[in-house]
Amino acid sequence: MADDKTHWGVTLNRRNRSLFFALGFLVLGTHLHDLQAGATMWLLLALQLLVYPQLVYWRARRSADPLRAEQQNLLVDGLLLGMWMAVWGLPLWISFMLCIGVCLNVVMFMGLPNLWKGMAALGGGVALVALVHGVSFRPDTGLATSLLSILLLTMYLLFFANDAFKRAISLRDSRRQLGERLAEITALQARLEEQAQRDPMTGLYNRRYLDEALERELATCRRSGTPLSLVLIDIDHFKRINDTYGHPAGDEMIRRLADLLADRVRNTGLVVCRYGGEEFLLMLPGTEMAEAALLAEDLCASFEAMRVDTGGGVMRATLSVGIAGFPEHAPKAQALVREADQALYAAKLGGRNRVVLSTSIGPDPQERSQAHGPEMVPGAVSPACRR
Ligand code: GH3
Ligand code: MG
Ligand code: MG
Repeated sequence: MADDKTHWGVTLNRRNRSLFFALGFLVLGTHLHDLQAGATMWLLLALQLLVYPQLVYWRARRSADPLRAEQQNLLVDGLLLGMWMAVWGLPLWISFMLCIGVCLNVVMFMGLPNLWKGMAALGGGVALVALVHGVSFRPDTGLATSLLSILLLTMYLLFFANDAFKRAISLRDSRRQLGERLAEITALQARLEEQAQRDPMTGLYNRRYLDEALERELATCRRSGTPLSLVLIDIDHFKRINDTYGHPAGDEMIRRLADLLADRVRNTGLVVCRYGGEEFLLMLPGTEMAEAALLAEDLCASFEAMRVDTGGGVMRATLSVGIAGFPEHAPKAQALVREADQALYAAKLGGRNRVVLSTSIGPDPQERSQAHGPEMVPGAVSPACRR
């Protein structure tokens, strides 16, 4: 029995050799009958056509390189069948059938450039007999032998074509499966890449993504001469939220702010990311600082008006925002983020619940406080900046 490790060519040739050599015994038997051959010739032909296929299969199976051994077997086929052809005086139909069979196998398993090896093996067999015994040319065969030779060769060709068809189908299936597997891997890869760019708690982009995207956007802005604003947002006195309502409630507030920001940038092409614990960063390409400040003010107002019910009490908080702009504040990504951070720091220092533009103080916090109501945080508001 062929195991999984046996090369398909070895298995295929065993079947072909066993079947077609056995059928060949019937065909060539008619020729031996016509020749009134003796028992030795019958015995040798039986060995060649009935026993030899199993021997060469056994040899290929035992070989460390079964395919190579099988290729050698094909040449041995050629040599031996060439000898038989010569022994019988190169009968036309029989020789044609055997030559085509050998050449077809050689091309199938060794490629057309190696066809000469098959022909050399056949020619070698003929030459060997010619040298030892001499060859008297007798091209004719009886009608039965001729017809059976044609029939057997036709059957062999059809078998060959069918094998090629089945292999093409299985190759196509394998390719399709491979394609499906590749698509799955690509999708998985894309999902992993997407996940690697996202903050799992809020679903927003993470800092890693922002850092990369900011470099890219700045390069584009530099080329096109468009501005870019960075808006760094931090929840005021967030520790108190955690301390008063617990960490899960703090998480909920972070998520609510994330939703608010995501909502605001939806379908705008603007990027919002969770930059740290309760810090968020908006990247606004094509947006002047003044426009960014208006958006930030609006966000502050919306967040301040937000009530988050924890079950254990209603949470409210305010935001401090620092804004820096390209190209006026920094030419590079890191420096621009630093500028926004410093503006945020100034906002905290200035009393929180406000928007501060880098190097210039934003709208009067008192004004905004009046517009949006007093700073709403749990517990007393510490006037000290704790950043
Ligand atoms: P400030 O107004 O100066 O920003 O005060 P703050 O209390 O917000 O100070 P700070 O930014 O230093 O503290 C942030 C706190 O946020 C500290 C940390 O315990 C908390 N925090 C960070 N990440 C998370 C989170 O994912 N969930 C919760 N619930 N808390 C977080
Ligand atoms: Mg904070
Ligand atoms: Mg913070």
